[in-house]
Amino acid sequence: MNKLFDINYIKSLLARYGFNFSKGLGQNFIVDGSICPRMAEESVVNDNIGVIEIGPGIGVLTRELAKRAKKVISIEIDNRLLTILDETMKEFSNVKIINGDFLNIDVASLLKEEFEGMDVSICANLPYYITSPIIMKILESKLDIKSIVAMVQKEAADRLCAKPGSRECGAVSVAVRYYSNPEILFNVPRTSFIPQPEVDSSVIKLNIHKDNILPDKIEKTLFHIVKSSFSQRRKTIINSLNGTCGKSKIEIERICELLNINPKSRAENLTLENFIKLTKHMVN
Ligand code: SAM
Repeated sequence: MNKLFDINYIKSLLARYGFNFSKGLGQNFIVDGSICPRMAEESVVNDNIGVIEIGPGIGVLTRELAKRAKKVISIEIDNRLLTILDETMKEFSNVKIINGDFLNIDVASLLKEEFEGMDVSICANLPYYITSPIIMKILESKLDIKSIVAMVQKEAADRLCAKPGSRECGAVSVAVRYYSNPEILFNVPRTSFIPQPEVDSSVIKLNIHKDNILPDKIEKTLFHIVKSSFSQRRKTIINSLNGTCGKSKIEIERICELLNINPKSRAENLTLENFIKLTKHMVN
């Protein structure tokens, strides 16, 4: 049994090591026994999977991953947790803990060195203060991974997984769709953590695909166009893109007509496919 779901056990474990939570590092540990097995099952979808975990904490999710995956590499920034993890992970020989900041880790090299011949997924209850930088680092590195299963603030989940046309849709939603098929798996109430955060959470899954990968120059322009289009959400795209790639309003209107896009649309109404087609014409 995973004792790390028992709040009294956790409290005595932490007290034994004199550990107190760091708000700055986003330390809210899961105490609801139903969540981690579900996250691990979504991550480990076959028996040849290795998992990279970000922020194991005391190892509650790490244990569920270790039971199912071939290998687990967990990256934890807080060195006070290392001795605790030595204790809570001691029966698992397929787990390796790396002390470091995920944002500084060369994940491509880690994949090569640690996961030869395996499929790899990433799984984490993410520290809320750096959710987007972590997710965008993984996506933009175009790593050879299957999926990212992550617990994030509910509001962030709604934004990351937003569909075109919805109020939550923004530049980050378009970027996420460029690299993956996103889905919200389930919601998690704030009462599932110690200490209890001020907001509820959701577990999302980003199924990585390589369907859209464009040449570097076009990709850079795509994200420039997406950012410009969303920078003033109330503006029509013909106004927000005026001057982008040296194109005048008249030229943009002509491109939109050609592509069957209403130039008076607002950014949130354009699909990723619309943005890609627009970009290909804007760069010419
Ligand atoms: N996985 C544990 C759980 O579900 O209970 C802990 C999750 S807690 C929300 C986030 C964890 O990420 C903490 O252990 C924190 O120390 C760690 N962390 C914060 N920033 C990090 C970073 N930049 N790189 C790696 N770990 C980080």
